[in-house]
Amino acid sequence: GKILVNDQFISREEGSIDIEDRGYQFGDGVYEVIRVYGGKMFTGKEHLTRLFESSKKILLELPFTQEELTAKLQELMEMNKLHTGTIYLQVTRGAAPRQHQFPGQSKPVLTAYTKEVGRPEEGMNKGMTATVADDVRWLRCDIKSLNLLGNLLAKQEAMANGSFEAILHRDGTVTEGSSSNVFIIKDNQLHTHPATNLILNGITRRVILQLCNEIGLTYKEEAFSVEELYAADEVFMASTTAEIMPLVQVRDVPVGDGKPGEWTKKLQVAFKGAIQQQCGE
Ligand code: PLP
Repeated sequence: GKILVNDQFISREEGSIDIEDRGYQFGDGVYEVIRVYGGKMFTGKEHLTRLFESSKKILLELPFTQEELTAKLQELMEMNKLHTGTIYLQVTRGAAPRQHQFPGQSKPVLTAYTKEVGRPEEGMNKGMTATVADDVRWLRCDIKSLNLLGNLLAKQEAMANGSFEAILHRDGTVTEGSSSNVFIIKDNQLHTHPATNLILNGITRRVILQLCNEIGLTYKEEAFSVEELYAADEVFMASTTAEIMPLVQVRDVPVGDGKPGEWTKKLQVAFKGAIQQQCGE
């Protein structure tokens, strides 16, 4: 398959990154992961809009338009005959002599590649487990930046404990997952952290809130506590790659009866409908 580097399609072996690329040295850049179903991007527009927003927040001016980028990614997908999978793309501030402040001159570096990856059916059906970890990240989690060490440390701890995801909290208030948004359902109402600087406003999260209206589930974008998490009827996480993933155990406490909840399953069905509507798959 081909990869995209700036406006060139090349083979992966041909690609190289400058040793002083600021993405490589500082994590000075932003990224997106887009789902592809049946050869079509799902919520592609929303993802690329967020990429431009993230870029703006780090004062990185992109040397292409959203339309141009869309066309390039489309071409990459077709070239690689991507059916069901993901597109990963990132933009860094480019290469310049190493110094913390932004260089006067540097050319942003865009890279993108595709990967064939199926829907996580097994996890979606049987549910996964989660741990709870301190959210030690910075205060601009609304930016989808390449700086992910706080997320990585939390995920690593979860995995080392045999869990799939780490649910993060700040002083007892749940923010989000290490690579997902987190939702609880209590007394037929869905709760999720509001889209502030403390979380990434997930594209999947936004789709889910729309689907709530469709299936008649009321929701509150209000923060909830770790105690409320443990007392929830249903818990799930959501992201581009994990979709709507039931969490059936948090630490060693089963959620509800320890099986994926009814509202969660309804949302999964509605989500599949949204995919079908957009991608015909
Ligand atoms: N929150 C964090 C920290 C993430 O890394 C992700 C996705 O990877 C999400 C939320 C979910 O965002 P999206 O639904 O746009 O994939």
